[in-house]
Amino acid sequence: MKKIAFFPGSFDPFTKGHADIVERGLSLFDEIIIGIGTNTNKKRYFEIDVIEREIKGAFANDPRIKIVHYDDLTASVAKKYGAQFILRGLRNTTDFEYENTISQVNRQLAKDLGTVFLITAPELAPISSTIVRELHKFGADITPYIPYKIE
Ligand code: ADP
Repeated sequence: MKKIAFFPGSFDPFTKGHADIVERGLSLFDEIIIGIGTNTNKKRYFEIDVIEREIKGAFANDPRIKIVHYDDLTASVAKKYGAQFILRGLRNTTDFEYENTISQVNRQLAKDLGTVFLITAPELAPISSTIVRELHKFGADITPYIPYKIE
């Protein structure tokens, strides 16, 4: 059976840290679906269409990677796309506390949906979407942190 992982996130923006999780995830899974969550309570900084287009461009050469956006429960969407696993990255213990709870809730929502965590590469651990947004807001160059170019 094809092993499919759903990699959910806000990706506001998608960073080199996220890209690294996807690339390393490909040694474990046959297909990875990157799901951009459109959380209606959270106002985005980067437009979803722009991020979706740029992620598609960054992975255009790899048919094992698909990109979708969604506004629903992550567990339901993962099942809808036939994923048996959710893929997430862990940078530190703060991520762990949060991710641990979320993964347990997802397990309750969908019994056969496991979460696989990959520990961040040390050189990418300081990168967060929050910091990249902040740098962009004040005019700093964000190209070292993202795997594509953005206006
Ligand atoms: P969310 O809003 O759902 O937390 P994010 O877009 O911030 O989504 O992150 C999505 C996933 O990527 C999370 O599992 C997060 O821990 C992970 N992640 C974020 N930054 C990095 C990084 N620099 N290296 C590895 N994983 C990361």
